Formats: sequence, structure tokens, C-alpha cells
Amino acid sequence: MASVVIIEDEQRIRELLARVLADQGYVVDSTGTAMDGLHAVVRGSPDLVILDMGLPDLDGTELLKMIRAVSDVPIIVATARGEDADVIKTLDAGADDYLVKPFSVEQLEARVRAVLRRMSGDARRGQPLLIGDLEIDVAARVVKLNDKELDLSPKEFDLLRFLAERVGEVVSKREILAEVWRQPYGGSEKTVDVHISWLRKKLGESGAKSRYLQTVFGVGVKLVDPSE
Ligand code: CA
Repeated sequence: MASVVIIEDEQRIRELLARVLADQGYVVDSTGTAMDGLHAVVRGSPDLVILDMGLPDLDGTELLKMIRAVSDVPIIVATARGEDADVIKTLDAGADDYLVKPFSVEQLEARVRAVLRRMSGDARRGQPLLIGDLEIDVAARVVKLNDKELDLSPKEFDLLRFLAERVGEVVSKREILAEVWRQPYGGSEKTVDVHISWLRKKLGESGAKSRYLQTVFGVGVKLVDPSE
């Protein structure tokens, strides 16, 4: 499981973040000062850092630059409302994403997942995803089933890739609309249904006889490895 270092001086928030992420299965280390945080990053080489911008001993942007000087670890910056102008500066200084306080637990979880997914995607770049007889070359946007190339539309490819990167995990249609269609609040779940049925056809399966794409009624859909 991925490890996360939280650098946040406000004890209440720090403990809440630590608990939420630990409950999600992440290995969590948390500190209340920039210097302890820097040590935790160097010592633990975590998979992700959540960094509060307002720290007692050092400005968050300075710490960000210090971390960037020694590590490529993904960093999500937590910033207070009204500091929006600073967000751009923060991203320029090397942050990968940011959360504006106050943020919901769900938003935090989603950002953490998204950043880690992007990173693992980058790490695997050039290396196809293999799921049973399905081979997904993300960089070339080519999908093969039993070595035969499938003719997918761009959205079908994006949808399949999204599900493939979370193989075995049930994903809600709302989440798919948010992540694949970039419509977190709007959009119709029917759009997702239609693309899933097209994808099914191209994978040579039907809803009644599914191998890769399984609908979990009332919850969402998941891509499974039929050989497992
Ligand atoms: Ca603070």
C-alpha cells in the first residue's frame, strides 16, 4: 500500500487526515513542522506528501522547493481560502495538486487517489496493462484482445483505461462521469451505460455473459481479470 507523509501544524486537522488515510489503508506518517516533515520525506521516501502551506517554522512554498530539490515525490498542497493567487505560484514551485481549505474528506480521498493513479500511470508508461487476454498500451492508445487489435473510439478507450487502472475495483457511474467525461456534477449516467455496452460488444461479451466488464447493480461497474 502507498505511504503518505502529512505535514500540517494544526493538530486537529493533522489527526483527522492521518486517520482518514490510515482507514483507507495508506501507511501514514505525520508531522507538525516543516523541518520534521522534510526529514520524514527524506527518511521515508513516501509515495505522496500532503503539505500545509502555513507552517510555524518555514513557509510552505520554501519547504516545497526544498523537497523538490531532493525528491520527485508527488505533493498535494493544502491551502487556506483566499490564497488562490498563491495556488499558481505553488503549482509552479512543484506541487502536483492542491486542496483549498476547508475541504471534505471525500475530496481529499479523491485527490490522493487521482495523484497516485497518475504517478503509477507515469511509472508504467510504455509498458502495457495486461488483464487476462486483454492488453492495453496506454501510450500508443492501442487495445488488443487475444493479440487482435480492437477498434475503439477515443472515449471507449479512455473508459477502458480508467477501469483497467483500477482493475477489480467497483467504480460508480458518477465517478466515471467525473474522471472520464470531466463532468463531476453534470452529465447523464446513461452516457456511461451506452459506452459500457459498446465496449462490451467490442470485447465480445454481453451483460448476461460478461467476462471482463461486470455490473454491480446499484453500485457501478468493474473490470475484472477472468483468469484470476
Ligand atoms: Ca497551518
